[in-house]
Amino acid sequence: MKTNKKSKYLRKRFSFIITLFIVIFVVFIYIIGKNPIKTTKIRENSYSGFNVILIIIDTLRADHLGCYGYSRSISPNIDLLAKKSFIFYNTYSASSWTRSAIASIVSSKLPTEHKITSENKKEILRKEFFTIQEFFNQMNYTTAAFYTNPHLNFGVTQNFSYKYFKGNEESNLVYDKVISWLDNNSNNNFFLLVHNMDPHDPYDFHPGFSSTPKRSRYRTLGRFFSVRKNGAGSTCENPGKIIILNKTQLAEMIANYDGEIKFLDYNLGRFFDYLRRKSLLDNTIIIFTSDHGEEFLEHGGYWHGCTLYNELIHVPLMIYIPHVRGRKVMERVSTIDIFPTLISLFDNKSLSEYNLSGVSLLPLMNNEPFKEKEIFSATAFRGALKYSVIRGDYKLITYANGTIIGFYNIKEDKKESKNLANVNSDLLDLINHIQKTTKIENKKNFKTKNIDKETLKQLKSLGYLT
Ligand SMILES: [Zn+2]
Repeated sequence: MKTNKKSKYLRKRFSFIITLFIVIFVVFIYIIGKNPIKTTKIRENSYSGFNVILIIIDTLRADHLGCYGYSRSISPNIDLLAKKSFIFYNTYSASSWTRSAIASIVSSKLPTEHKITSENKKEILRKEFFTIQEFFNQMNYTTAAFYTNPHLNFGVTQNFSYKYFKGNEESNLVYDKVISWLDNNSNNNFFLLVHNMDPHDPYDFHPGFSSTPKRSRYRTLGRFFSVRKNGAGSTCENPGKIIILNKTQLAEMIANYDGEIKFLDYNLGRFFDYLRRKSLLDNTIIIFTSDHGEEFLEHGGYWHGCTLYNELIHVPLMIYIPHVRGRKVMERVSTIDIFPTLISLFDNKSLSEYNLSGVSLLPLMNNEPFKEKEIFSATAFRGALKYSVIRGDYKLITYANGTIIGFYNIKEDKKESKNLANVNSDLLDLINHIQKTTKIENKKNFKTKNIDKETLKQLKSLGYLT
């Protein structure tokens, strides 16, 4: 009797444990089935039918994001995206100002090739350059661009099937429009470009996000850096008066900039939540980057466009692929590599048929051998034409006429504070070698196009000369 009771108890207990295991197993299979995370290789040409969202933040320094090591907690939502994405720690923009940099992203051509280096209104992205939006048009995707900087009206957004432009509109309003567009259009395959302007100066006050007083003196850079002033005639080489802020003042200016990043991050979080609720994160590739950074006196100036130091050309890059575990990528890449990467995800044609200057990042994402290439950037924004070339641990910054601006070991000297040019003859040899082998040309080849009056007005209001 006693034994029977005991065996009955044991049977009951055993069947309870078995049932518990079955329940756990079923729940596990359900979760895995719903959101499988693969660590397998990403195959070429295997993403047709997936949507693509390319987010370009204007004036966002990589080193002001938590996922790139920033100490201030201002980017929780971007950092969360980074955790789920391939994050490229050493990404460089092809230019240090908007029109030139974003033309390079959408066309995978260097500024020396698309010829947009200065603010001359004739420098537009010409129709003969094949763009990301045209690639997706050919695949019968709906293509839409939401953008807030008039520089994108210079051919950069050519041939999108839908365009929404409002100069300097804040990200809360932009994402309201994007969400309502997606409500009506996400049944079709889409390629969406969203460009946000928040971190670009003036650094607006946002209650609940800004840590500085509303009336801070350091919200607009024009009063400290005459190159920023509209029509003042200052150039990067002859900047006139630069007001050098003391440590406390500069910290307040940087905190104003950070307030804009925090506000932007909140609105990105709202957008990512929307994508999750609509199950779009299951079939949408997200690419997150910026056009250039911002200077805060690291090399004697403010704002952007004038130089090619890393505070301006080191930018964030993350690629989110649904159901694939991302990884940290330390190899050097360029923003001109974004378009070739998309082609390799969506097309089986050889990249060479597209005549692009970037390379696909797929081998890096798959942790396969990848030959690092030289990284080129250029600008002639309000000044003389300059180039930078990164090769190995070294970075050369030079005027197009050959006059060297600086030569740095960027592995040991991340802040580019020790100019090694002329230090010894070995270095001079290396500089000469880089200059000779980089084949950067300096020809201008413009076609004219009339830019509408509204765009010119918007540019002036943002502090750009026309
Ligand atoms: Zn910009």
